Amino acid sequence: MRDVIVVGGGLGGLLVAADVRRRGGDPILLEASNRPGGVAQTIREDGFLLEPAAGSLLLPNPDLTPILEAAGVSFVAAHREARTRFVYDRGTLFEVPESPKFLFTRLVSWRAKWRAAREPWVTTPPPAGEESLLGFFTRRFGLDVGRLGADLMAHGVFAGDPASLSIQAAFPRLVALEQAAGSVVKGGLQRRKQRPAGTRRPSVHVAPEGMAAIAARLAAYLDDEFRPNHPVTAVRRSDGGRWIVEWDGGTESADAVVVALAPAQASPLLPEPLAGLLTGRPLAPVAVVGLGGPATSLRLPTGFGALTGPDSGIRALGILFESEYSPDRAPSGFQLAKGIYGGAADPGIMEESDEAIAALMSRELGRITGRTVEPTWVRVRRSSIPQYPVGHAAWMDQVDEQLAHLPGLHLAGWGYRGIGVSSLGADAARIGAALDRGPVS
Ligand SMILES: Cc1cc2nc3c(=O)[nH]c(=O)nc-3n(C[C@H](O)[C@H](O)[C@H](O)COP(=O)(O)OP(=O)(O)OC[C@H]3O[C@@H](n4cnc5c(N)ncnc54)[C@H](O)[C@@H]3O)c2cc1C
Repeated sequence: MRDVIVVGGGLGGLLVAADVRRRGGDPILLEASNRPGGVAQTIREDGFLLEPAAGSLLLPNPDLTPILEAAGVSFVAAHREARTRFVYDRGTLFEVPESPKFLFTRLVSWRAKWRAAREPWVTTPPPAGEESLLGFFTRRFGLDVGRLGADLMAHGVFAGDPASLSIQAAFPRLVALEQAAGSVVKGGLQRRKQRPAGTRRPSVHVAPEGMAAIAARLAAYLDDEFRPNHPVTAVRRSDGGRWIVEWDGGTESADAVVVALAPAQASPLLPEPLAGLLTGRPLAPVAVVGLGGPATSLRLPTGFGALTGPDSGIRALGILFESEYSPDRAPSGFQLAKGIYGGAADPGIMEESDEAIAALMSRELGRITGRTVEPTWVRVRRSSIPQYPVGHAAWMDQVDEQLAHLPGLHLAGWGYRGIGVSSLGADAARIGAALDRGPVS
């Protein structure tokens, strides 16, 4: 295993470093702040547990599971209720079952369902180059179901704009299904059949103590080589081909360096022309609101949560019923809801105060549940989510072309190849394998 320095101790950098460690390496991880986890800083107060960023993930996962197991990190399965999803649209809360019972939801007309059901026989080819999420969905499933599906996926995963997001960059698996089988539905069924017998189907898992505890466990797995309070100022290559990493007060060198920062944070540290390529990538600002209170006041529906449809008339992108699908999110007799506001469609809401956004969520949750909501516990956290607009996949190709001239330099994190933790795991496995010179122990 090469000697490796990882820059950035968010979940992205931690997973890369943990995979290097799992493969027998001794990575150094340099983190600017005083703690691991990056945006995933769990709030645990008054018996409530709010995740301001990643809150759940699908496990088992072929890339993530071996890393988590090696580091002794455990997630627990969410309650069965996590399978019950809702969509709020046209003033109604629709239950959307995972199963073929979906066909009976009144969320869309029979005519729209009929068009969507013909997806396996749609032969319209994709346009040349990258296609938007909205374009892909309406081409495959028709206008109504396509618009709804694209909206829900854009809001639920990226807080993004379905007309701008690139299907190739944002949801490459759907493109792969179409390419493999000529249809998303047929491709999905084929995949399911190919799954080896006895393999567990991935299901929603959560961190019992919160993602911050997961981050702390991953950092501890690196022994003393997780180094907080190390804001890196430059990453450059020496004449001998080794990588030199500088921070205020010190330097380290290694065969390889993994910069696990968002492109805008990575850019000032790196050599041109790569640095220039990493500037100006779009972000969508979001406000995450936690509302807690007695169950008699919140009366959350039993399920994972509700995404909002294109005709919802409310500003929340989605509201998750945290205490209803995840253990230990609220004290006994209390409930916790988590709302996501802002995103590409509504950046103006970020001008509002935390109090105003929380009050808006109380009113909107009340509209969804049909009751007056009076929370007793309120927290708001703001952050920004990287966006992958049409052209992102071509931009990634340019980034990879530059990296090919810089052997030993790798980029990781949610700004590049996927914004969920499972994509960070895939990155970690890919980079770990590239750095590995020996068998996995
Ligand atoms: C509202 C929201 C909900 C989400 N929900 C989910 C979900 O349910 N499931 C899921 O899988 N994912 C979810 N995500 C995504 C997930 O949280 C991210 O993929 C992940 O946390 C990003 O980790 P990262 O390491 O790439 O970036 P970051 O967390 O941004 O980490 C970067 C780190 O680098 C450090 N740093 C910055 N500059 C320097 C420097 N110069 N030197 C050293 N260190 C530096 C920072 O301090 C930070 O710790 C969600 C995100 C948000 C915002």
